[in-house]
Amino acid sequence: MERLKQFIEKEGKVLNEEVLKVDTFLNHGIHPQLMKEIGIEFAHRFEKDGITKILTLESSGIAPALMTSLSLDCELVFARKRKSITMTDNLFTSSVHSFTKKETSDISVSKSLIHKDDHILIIDDFLANGQAALGLIDLVNQSRASIAGFGIVIEKSFQPGRHLLEEKGFKIESLARISRLSNGQVSFIDPIKQS
Ligand code: 5GP
Repeated sequence: MERLKQFIEKEGKVLNEEVLKVDTFLNHGIHPQLMKEIGIEFAHRFEKDGITKILTLESSGIAPALMTSLSLDCELVFARKRKSITMTDNLFTSSVHSFTKKETSDISVSKSLIHKDDHILIIDDFLANGQAALGLIDLVNQSRASIAGFGIVIEKSFQPGRHLLEEKGFKIESLARISRLSNGQVSFIDPIKQS
């Protein structure tokens, strides 16, 4: 997605060879028009997949997931990283290790919000090592719903997440695929070689 790549090139900060900071439009500040376009693009890529619900993880997945759910006209649920005091229902729970933050956290979603007849699109801001994705898969598996695929805003293709999901046979649609972060520069995978 060309406009997303332009945002990454112009506003992204390469913190080191593994981490890209995109706090002006995705992870802290949110660019509404870009999110709208991201939603339309994901909706286009999954429009024939019979999605009933989108699942994402708080907080940075919510903006792109919300815009996609509007475009697909389907429901949206986000998994929580901390239990809310109002979460008195039964929960599906999994644990996710973040290599970026170097911590493991529990994620959960109320059992009343995902059902076995749901066909779920999982959306997230980044795909890196794939640990967040595995946690979300675990939540969906516990509910016995099915997974239509993954919509990823920024994939760091040099990390193992994509391979992990491909091995499990999932459809993955990433709007920007980064092949390398080095010397302050972001390199993208050539779109012709992407698919
Ligand atoms: P994974 O579980 O695939 O390693 O990473 C998942 C989460 O870590 C993403 O949802 C994102 O919040 C965070 N993350 C991983 N890599 C990056 C990065 O390079 N930049 C930012 N801003 N977040 C990242």
